[in-house]
Amino acid sequence: MTHDNLTATIAGQVRSVSGKNVLSATLQEYWQGTAAAVVDHLADNWQKTEERYNASRMQHYFSAEFLMGRALLNNLNNLGLVEEAEQALGAFGQNLSDVLEEEHDAALGNGGLGRLAACFLDSSATQNLPVRGYGILYRYGLFKQFFEDGNQGEEPDPWMEEGYPFVIRREENVKFINYADLKVRAIPYDMPITGYGTDNVGTLRLWKAEPMADFDYNAFNSQDFTGAIVERERVNDISRVLYPNDSSFEGKVLRVRQQYFFCSASLQQIVDNELAQRGTLKDFATFNSIQLNDTHPVLAIPELMRILMDDHDFGWDEAWEIVRGTFAYTNHTVLAEALETWEVSIFDRLFPRIREIIFEIDRRFREEIAKAGFDQGKIDYMAPVSGNRIRMAWIACYAAFSINGVAALHTEIIKADTLKDWYDVWPEKFNNKTNGVTPRRWLDQCNPRLSALLTELLGNDEWVRDLDLLKNLEGYLNDADVLDRLNAIKHANKVDFAAWIKHRQGIEVDPDAIFDTQIKRLHEYKRQLLNAFYILDLYFQIKDDPSMEVPPRVFIFGAKAAPGYVRAKAIIKLINTIGELVNNDDDVAGRLKVVFVENYNVSPAEHIIPATDISEQISTAGKEASGTGNMKFMMNGALTLGTMDGANVEIVDAVGNDNAYIFGATEDELPELRKTYDPRRTAAEVPGLQRVMDALVDGTLDDGGTGLFHDLHNSLFDGWGGADEYYVLGDFASYRETRDRVAADYFSDRRHWAAMCLKNIIESGRFSSDRTIRDYAREVWKIEPQKI
Ligand SMILES: *Cc1c(COP(=O)(O)O)cnc(C)c1O
Repeated sequence: MTHDNLTATIAGQVRSVSGKNVLSATLQEYWQGTAAAVVDHLADNWQKTEERYNASRMQHYFSAEFLMGRALLNNLNNLGLVEEAEQALGAFGQNLSDVLEEEHDAALGNGGLGRLAACFLDSSATQNLPVRGYGILYRYGLFKQFFEDGNQGEEPDPWMEEGYPFVIRREENVKFINYADLKVRAIPYDMPITGYGTDNVGTLRLWKAEPMADFDYNAFNSQDFTGAIVERERVNDISRVLYPNDSSFEGKVLRVRQQYFFCSASLQQIVDNELAQRGTLKDFATFNSIQLNDTHPVLAIPELMRILMDDHDFGWDEAWEIVRGTFAYTNHTVLAEALETWEVSIFDRLFPRIREIIFEIDRRFREEIAKAGFDQGKIDYMAPVSGNRIRMAWIACYAAFSINGVAALHTEIIKADTLKDWYDVWPEKFNNKTNGVTPRRWLDQCNPRLSALLTELLGNDEWVRDLDLLKNLEGYLNDADVLDRLNAIKHANKVDFAAWIKHRQGIEVDPDAIFDTQIKRLHEYKRQLLNAFYILDLYFQIKDDPSMEVPPRVFIFGAKAAPGYVRAKAIIKLINTIGELVNNDDDVAGRLKVVFVENYNVSPAEHIIPATDISEQISTAGKEASGTGNMKFMMNGALTLGTMDGANVEIVDAVGNDNAYIFGATEDELPELRKTYDPRRTAAEVPGLQRVMDALVDGTLDDGGTGLFHDLHNSLFDGWGGADEYYVLGDFASYRETRDRVAADYFSDRRHWAAMCLKNIIESGRFSSDRTIRDYAREVWKIEPQKI
């Protein structure tokens, strides 16, 4: 497209959304108009791709979360329209980067699991693979976080209230969802998913719940206006809000209602297409496969049974064979409390028929497994229904033909522990698919300086589609000029970050300091507390000896805590309190700075990651399934300071021990260590640690009289269900020694540091989600590229 064309389209779209002369439009209206122009640009190819995919074997990706972030730049970049858009907007005196800042993040996810789904869609589109995503169009995405007195506050995030051109309402594809107590309409909203350097455009289909009729006219006419509104709101509740729980459960009836809502609507659509294409459902599993992203969409299993049996006259055995050939399940956690189970009574109330089908699955499971000689205890443990609860993960393990973990270590742990009994019966179902991230958003787009250098050194930009090509840069590991340029790029990114955070939160940071970052959901197992203790200890050391030489550091945090997770919120308050102390003390000025980025989300991550020197991946070994933040940092030339956990293990394997900083107890060692572990003794023995612990309770740090810091202290020393469950104090000494060493290395040889960064960048190909998706496509989904 020429920029004249794009200028004309944008002008037309801006006029129609604003109802004004183009030159009078607001920045938001320019965003709306430019976004609409992009949809205009891709519409024909989108439809062609849809038709092509509908006719082929397809992969359907079911996920309660898609953490998409912003779409406009991503689409412009994929379509090769960034420069045209700059020029087009320039013609109206507008700046593309200002216009981009008008976009709200589509935060329809909590964290890693939802962002993974988004990266997968990008990689599928880029590789022309017939994959469609299905989820819920939440009116309110993940809550907006704000700090008040250092405490987390939450407010709703009405992300599409001002209009959002990247979802198209498809009224004509409405489906109806029947609950025992309610009937609702499911309206699909389709989001185009562009790929890099391809005409194919994939789809994310998000369902919105709406009342059957806009008003209940009987109620309205009988003057029960309020009653009519209440009923209507009960329906709207279904797609109103994303549950802000990362890995524990809550919410109950509404949550189960939501899950069934998008599973049923999506399956109805897939079944309709199958009938339209092939006139029968007999070959359903030949042409369709469904990936369940965690257990949230597991209700699709009994729902497909229901559709096949009740709506299309299949017998149980025939239907079950189709179901078993269709579903694949991804497990995302080793935390037992995160495996969803629901009271049977919820199912009685919402859908007795689904309950009946699940009980029949349960009966047959028990029969099948008893024949295999399992004892009653084991049968009861593994059964889909037990103790009056329905266990979603067990339904998935029984029905799915594939069960995968998300990093090599995680897959080994679920085989040996979390899902061991299932592995014993069906070892052939288990496989590993190490997560990945898309190099488009997480390198090419967010780090244009580094992207330009890579393209220059390689002679073209093919690496954006094939990240393994970065291996060809091995020869530059000793090239002083390239290493210096790499350092200069990082410095320039840090200057950008400094301006961004100054504008956003009014805080000043020194770009010459080391930027040391931990950004991820706040959870005890991720151990932000360990990071905070290091900072506090370092602060006390400087107070003791103000002339002490320490490498200047900026400690960057970003994290949301689930609103009901009190201890996670206490850790946020603690970090902010330490920040207050450190940032306002002249003794440490110029050496330490603590920055807690408010409302961490995809867009802030895009500013933080390219500016980071050290990536904190410090979870208790065995607890982090994979991590994907670690991969984004690696790609941008930040070095991992981490434990042997999740995908960190594979990062170290890729770059070698000399190019990452690893500390702490390993998963293997922990059980033995715990036998004799006494956190009080550790605190007394490790120099400085007792003082850090005391600071929580002796008035040094003020939690505003809430007792939050006392609780943190207690959780480490006296913890209910085991003191210091996450081994924070146990790993402290090793962490401090390693982190001190990283900081010293940074300043001792800047070129050597750059070489380590370059090694991380060039080995990051295996952490591209393109690789992950290729593995799924070949080994699980059995799909082929369908280029239009
Ligand atoms: C990548 C990403 C995550 C996942 O981070 P981890 O460090 O793997 O937990 C969470 N939130 C956002 C916004 C992300 O971009």
